[in-house]
Amino acid sequence: MKYFSEITDFYKQNKPSELLEQFGSPLYVYNEDILRQRARQIKSLVDMPNFEVSYSIKANSNLHILKILKEEGLYADAMSDGEIFILEKAGYEKDDIFFVCNNVSAEEMRYAVDRGIMVSVDSLSQLDLYGRNFPKSKVSVRLNPGIGAGHHQKVVTGGKTTKFGINLEKIEDIFDISRKYNLKITGINQHIGSLFMSSTEYLRGVNELLQTALFFKDLEFIDFGGGFGIPYKKQEGQQPLELVQFGQDLKYILSQWQSENKRDIIFRCEPGRFVVAESSILLGKVYAKKNNYNKIFIGTDLGFSVLIRPAMYGSHHDIEVYRKNKLVKNKPFESVNITGNICESGDILVEERELPVINEEDIIGVMDAGAYGYSMSSNYNNRMRPAEVLIKSNGSVQLIRKRDTFEDLIKGF
Ligand SMILES: *Cc1c(COP(=O)(O)O)cnc(C)c1O
Repeated sequence: MKYFSEITDFYKQNKPSELLEQFGSPLYVYNEDILRQRARQIKSLVDMPNFEVSYSIKANSNLHILKILKEEGLYADAMSDGEIFILEKAGYEKDDIFFVCNNVSAEEMRYAVDRGIMVSVDSLSQLDLYGRNFPKSKVSVRLNPGIGAGHHQKVVTGGKTTKFGINLEKIEDIFDISRKYNLKITGINQHIGSLFMSSTEYLRGVNELLQTALFFKDLEFIDFGGGFGIPYKKQEGQQPLELVQFGQDLKYILSQWQSENKRDIIFRCEPGRFVVAESSILLGKVYAKKNNYNKIFIGTDLGFSVLIRPAMYGSHHDIEVYRKNKLVKNKPFESVNITGNICESGDILVEERELPVINEEDIIGVMDAGAYGYSMSSNYNNRMRPAEVLIKSNGSVQLIRKRDTFEDLIKGF
């Protein structure tokens, strides 16, 4: 079994228990080196001057993390006006931001348009709404090529049964609407789904979108979407996505298309998870242990208000156990269920997994918690969302978001 914190020297000289003492439990701990490393890996995926990477900030929109990723030269995808707002606070400029929205009001579109931010619309009716409000302007459309991929039905976003994008058979309608309002379609984009571990479907989607692109005469960019997976099951030996071959294959396809069609186009991808997931370990504490009808329950403060992925998608996160700051990896093992402190029976972090025997007062580390962790956390049960800290390259620890306070719970009243 491989222990992530050992492979990566994740904590540098810091100790899990001291971090929790100082910042409270639970706690999202980020490692700056890993974050920067992933940003660089994805940025160099395709070695072409017109290949760009936009980070999809819904995976993690902590202001400090956004600043680091900007330093690394990533652009950004926003899904809402709030995400545009936070990106501007982090120093991103209009040309750095792509607004990929769905089912929004004209006012929300205007928030982006007023700032000169490129908008992608997700349906014919949204294209019409855009045209009525912003005639004679540029816009991008999100297409759905009928190809989907992902780790769970809820994250497959392309394909014939999902809510996203415009069906390729409707392409003439796109042109009708854009003629009616004098719109210039300067971008097309797609996103086939989340967490693929083999590039086959993604590349198929790329080929498909490149074929479709030939129908669009005013294109300035083509965005192939995100979904790049990370190995959540490292303890079982799962290997990372093979990026080198993937990048070469992608480059081959793109260069081929470019030389055949003699078009000057920017190519983009928009990963979220890949950039941030592995940069964080979520720490929590064990407060109870019980055996109910032969099922062992480990009771922690890691409820689904803190990390909802397992409860929502049945997602797997590797678990590490720390006792007196030492990683526990010795036998005996036992099969346990790790639960949180939310009053719902679906509040399960880990279901029947063989782990080293866990006791009260142990610390639990949830691996690969940087993506869709804090960003999907909530105040359900009136629990505080946790603090976030960053272990910097020099080993020092920076508080990058305070833990909620009781006052935060009443600030709307
Ligand atoms: C969520 C999303 C992404 C990022 O997905 P990941 O699986 O985190 O890479 C990219 N593009 C769009 C349009 C999205 O909605």
